[in-house]
This record gives sequence, C-alpha cells and structure tokens, in this order.
Amino acid sequence: MHYTTQIDAAKKGILTPQMHHVASYENICPETLRELVAKGHVAIPANKNHICLTPYGIGHKLKTKINVNLGTSKDCLNLDVEMEKVMTAIDLGAESIMDLSSFGDTAAFRRKLTKECPAIIGTVPIYDAVVYYNKPLKKITSDEWIEIVRMHAEDGVDFMTIHCGINRDTANSFKQTKRHTNIVSRGGSIIFAWMELTGLENPFFERYDEILDICAAYDVTLSLGDACRPGSIEDAGDVSQIKELVALGELTQRAWDRNVQVIIEGPGHMPLNQIQANMEIQQTICKGAPFYVLGPLVTDVAPGYDHITAAIGGAIAATYGASFLCYVTPAEHLRLPTVDDVKEGIIASKIAAHAADVAKGLPGAKDWDYAMSEARRNLDWERQFDLAIDPNKARDYRTSSTPEREDTCTMCGKMCAVRNINKILRGEDVDIMD
Ligand code: SF4
Repeated sequence: MHYTTQIDAAKKGILTPQMHHVASYENICPETLRELVAKGHVAIPANKNHICLTPYGIGHKLKTKINVNLGTSKDCLNLDVEMEKVMTAIDLGAESIMDLSSFGDTAAFRRKLTKECPAIIGTVPIYDAVVYYNKPLKKITSDEWIEIVRMHAEDGVDFMTIHCGINRDTANSFKQTKRHTNIVSRGGSIIFAWMELTGLENPFFERYDEILDICAAYDVTLSLGDACRPGSIEDAGDVSQIKELVALGELTQRAWDRNVQVIIEGPGHMPLNQIQANMEIQQTICKGAPFYVLGPLVTDVAPGYDHITAAIGGAIAATYGASFLCYVTPAEHLRLPTVDDVKEGIIASKIAAHAADVAKGLPGAKDWDYAMSEARRNLDWERQFDLAIDPNKARDYRTSSTPEREDTCTMCGKMCAVRNINKILRGEDVDIMD
C-alpha cells in the first residue's frame, strides 16, 4: 500500500521498516508503536533522502532521546572541528544532531551530514536563509524563506525547527506584556525582527500549509519552535510563553491532519517547581505531541556549569512528559562549545535522560543500574568501567589514585564498607587497623 510519511503509514495500518526498527530497539510491540505514531504521540523523524539514517522514535513510552547542537559561526569557522564534534556525539550515543551552522558553506556541511551520518539530523532554516541570501534581513522575501525550507527537505534533513508560533498576534502580546529577557531564541529573534522591519506576517505562519506540503513530500518532522521560550526563570510560564504554546497546539493539529509528524519545542529557563505543571500543560494543549525541551535550566546563575543546571531540569521534565532533551554544554551563554564541552554536555544529558527513564519505570531502564550496583557490591572495577556512562573517565579516576589494597579505593581504604560487609557475611575476620 502507498504512504507518504510515517504518520500516514501508521494511520493506514502499515508497519514501515522504520517502525519495525524502532519497536525492536525499544522492546515494544510494533502494533503499539504504530498506534502511537498514528496518534502523533510518537514521531519517527526519517527524511526519505537520508538514506544512511538509523531511525529512532521520540515520544510516549519510549526511551528519552537527546539532541546535540553543533555547527559553525562567523567567529568559529572550522568544519574539521565540527565534524569531530559529530563523531564524538555518535560515539557517545546521541540519537540526534542539529546543525545550527550560521556561517560558511552551510549547504556542503549539511549535505555531508545527511550523506554520512546515521543520527537524526535537524536544522533551523531561518539561520541558513540569512547566510544563504547574504543580504539585509528586511530584503529577504516571503518566497525566499519558504524556499530554504524546501532546500533543507531535499537535502535529507529529518526535522526542522520552524518558528511559526510567533505571528502578529503573539508578537503583539509579547510587546504589550513586556518580559525580563525579551526573546532569546535565535530563530525567533530573527523572524520577529523581520516582521517588525517589513510590517508583514510571519511567512512560516501565513504559509504554513505550503510548509506542510514540503514536509509531507519528504517526510520531514516539524519541530515547532518556541520563539518565546523563557530566557530566564523570571519569564518562565509567562503570557508570551503560554500564548505561543496555544498557537503551537493549533498548528500541531493542522500538521497531523496533513500527515506531517510534529514535535514541540519547550523551555528554556524554568525553576524546578514549575516544570511538572509546564509539561502537563504542554501535553494537554498539544494533544500529546512529543515535547522537546531546551534544558530547562533551573537557575540562571551558573555560567560554565549550565550542563548541570540543564540536566537537573531535563531529568524533571522528562519524568513528567518531555521525550527529547536538547543537550546544554558548559559553554552555554559563553562561547561556541569545544569538542570537550560537547562531550560534557552529552554525558550530562544522557544522565538526565536515563534518570527520567528509571523514574518513569520504562521496562528495562533499571537493569543497567542493577548491574552497576552488583558490580560495586562485588568490587569488580572492570565491570564498573564497562557499565559506566563514561568508561574512560571512571577508569582514569580509579587508576589516578592507587589504594593500599586492590579490593578497596582510596576513599576509605581498609574501612571500605563494601569489602568489610562482604567479609563479615562470608564469616571472615575484618582487619582495619592492622
Ligand atoms: S573504599 Fe569506600 S568509596 Fe571506595 S569502594 Fe569501598 S566503600 Fe566505596
């Protein structure tokens, strides 16, 4: 039977090769997965032109996935370094990579990714339009914005962030209500500026049906961007954020009606006590579409450590409904991340994702922890390294500080509680001071 997109196939009762692959990876019944895709509660971003893709599902009942942002900027234009970040992300198990390049030969880099990289590839066409047309922002035409979306779709991009929730109505609301940190979304700021400079409606909103036609033709998943995501905990849950979320909810249903898969982008900065309610509101307004959170960062005061502030928020968000975590690196707010920053960000994000999967009771999630705690009980260091989320770091720490006895570590030495209890339970003597 013929189908256009994963959601179209699912609605028609067809199990696609991508669904079989995802079901096997997630250890979930393929038919259950198909029903989730048909309802829009799971998205499988899989552009027909991304031939080397390893597909993953994002959404309800599935493992929490992580995304790695990378790409060039005018100040840091080194494609070799960006490719090293790509390889690091894949080696560390990131399921998705967003190419946010904003300078240089962006098309060549994007095409290299979709030709060679098995991870899900995402982009933000707004950034690329500014680079590609290389002219004053206000001179970019409505047709040109749409054309960039078509170009990225043809290039095999699996999902695109489209800032269509900020329209003249939500933009007016933003201007009237005032907020502490205005608009901190890069794409959102560009399209808001374009609307102000030209006096025109946001073309991604006004010509949304054309965007949907492009996405349906290539099976591009729409990532509905949140231009008004809070850029400080002061703005979390304010009128601008919620009004845009309502607009995204309406656009979600229109996409599903045209057989286009959708994920919804979310905060941002948000205090811990607001995260659960925000996730639940999103699930209601966007009818269970997968939620893709950018952090959330639970405090504003930790530049240099925002992989930690984001991992705290990401773990809570994923526990209460988010399905997809955008990693944050220690370089957030400060510079383009280095390869080491990328690694730190990925590890922090993977910890958050796994912690949430354990909290949600996903089948099998706790098995990893059980195996690690067993290796700890047995003081089996090699097994602990094998199971560690970052084996190299675990091994380096252990070997950098040699204990008096091999069956302890230098934290407690012969006062090692694990060793001593094992010995007592075996009926052996415990030697501490001798
Ligand atoms: S020495 Fe202390 S920290 Fe090290 S393994 Fe034993 S109980 Fe744990």
